[in-house]
Amino acid sequence: ALHVVWLRNDLRAYDNAALFHAVTAANNDADSAVLAVFVATAASWQQHHMSTIKQDFIRQRVRQLTVELAEQGVAMLALEANHYQDCRPVFAKLSALGMVALYSQPEYELREQQRDRQITADLQAAGVAVHWYDRQCVMPPGSILTQSGDTYKVFTPFKRNWLARLQQLGVRCYPRVRAEKFYDVSAIGEQLALPAMQNGDNSAAAWPVAEQQILEQMRQFCQQQVADYQRTRDFPEQAGTSGLSAYLAIGVISAQQCVNRLQLEAAVTLEQDKSGASVWLSELIWREFYKHILVAYPDLIKHNPFQADTAAIRWSNSKTLFDAWCQGKTGYPIVDAAMRQLNQTGWMHNRLRMITASFLVKDLHIDWRWGEQYFMSRLIDGDFAANNGGWQWAASTGTDAAPYFRIFNPVTQSERFDPAGNFIRRYLPELAKQSAKTIHWPHNKGTPAEYWPAVVDHNDARKITLALFAEVKKPN
Ligand code: FAD
Repeated sequence: ALHVVWLRNDLRAYDNAALFHAVTAANNDADSAVLAVFVATAASWQQHHMSTIKQDFIRQRVRQLTVELAEQGVAMLALEANHYQDCRPVFAKLSALGMVALYSQPEYELREQQRDRQITADLQAAGVAVHWYDRQCVMPPGSILTQSGDTYKVFTPFKRNWLARLQQLGVRCYPRVRAEKFYDVSAIGEQLALPAMQNGDNSAAAWPVAEQQILEQMRQFCQQQVADYQRTRDFPEQAGTSGLSAYLAIGVISAQQCVNRLQLEAAVTLEQDKSGASVWLSELIWREFYKHILVAYPDLIKHNPFQADTAAIRWSNSKTLFDAWCQGKTGYPIVDAAMRQLNQTGWMHNRLRMITASFLVKDLHIDWRWGEQYFMSRLIDGDFAANNGGWQWAASTGTDAAPYFRIFNPVTQSERFDPAGNFIRRYLPELAKQSAKTIHWPHNKGTPAEYWPAVVDHNDARKITLALFAEVKKPN
């Protein structure tokens, strides 16, 4: 009998509920073995605009995980398909080959859910047990509700409730498990009618993928850096944040492990205190807030705005301005440096994600969905819920959105969060000689401006934004 673990966005050996239960079940029965399966689906990934760097990152991680799982006695098959639908025959075949149970972690997006519903139905019809373990969040969607049983639409009360639950329930991680019997995959590999997973383009080579190394990075962050988080996290020039988002996005580490370690290393209180540890925990709670919202409002998955009235905003959607933004040639140095960081590295600092998103929507008047998609197509940590939540926050169309009349001034933001201009200089060598004073706005008379002219005037753009929103927010 075969117990199959289907790994997707939980690409880890430790604290993996599905893996834990599959191995435990196989170990309890002398005639049973466990098999881990991963299916790459490049065509579906592209349909979701997944960046090539994230695709490569997943492939590299899966390769590494195959080695790590083998050390724990678990055989893993990594296969290459195109679309999600191609997974269906694989599991049908595995069921014909003696699979008695499937173990996996659900995903929240639409096509993923469709795929999982179909496969669950197929397998149950064939008498195979299907077990889902939702461990994407410390507090699963649906478990944090208002007194009247609704989903929170505002972060602060959500967080308060979340923290109370944490105090009540604590957080539990699953131990590493070892399978007693190694399953010989050579016997079935060829029968599954899919080739072995291919290599990627190596674009994620700069990102280590060994689980122990990432756990160590997380531990060190909690031990040595988190105390300064509140002070440093907003300055893109400093390595003040954990850099763990890509690993959380594909589940190389879990949020449970982060919270567990944080509690061991630092005092996290229920109060709204300003310690680095509490503020970092808050960010992990933001991650869960957006996932809860996504599950409760599946319309968001279709890229509809949370605030329905904002669907009528008449964005100007200039292709020229959009291209300037994508390429980092808007003439606003902080925006341009940030976009080049994204284009060159596949990652962008959170403060800069807020600044560039706000700029696209409120200075260039481009539909936030264009930016959402562009981010997805470039980010190594692309995550639907966080990305959609972040964009709708910046665009003032979302749940807990910034009010539309609060508009970032990109130059003031730059002066405040990159005071010496070092971040700008790193990505815009053409501005290397500008002083800390002139670098944020190298367009004044007297500054030797050899820089892209500003594509818009912020003050004019701001007025247009206010008018665009006022038009749809008018009381009837
Ligand atoms: P840290 O500051 O160390 O935070 C720890 C973890 O908390 C992060 O790894 C992440 O998992 C989570 N987190 C932090 N901030 C947020 C947030 N605002 N919302 C949700 N989760 C958060 N994050 C993604 O993981 N994927 C995305 O696709 C994504 N798109 C974004 C788009 C926009 C427009 C904005 C404003 C934010 C977006 N974020 C996204 C959130 C945030 O910018 C990144 O999570 C963060 O910059 C990652 O760096 P870090 O791991 O060093 O974060």
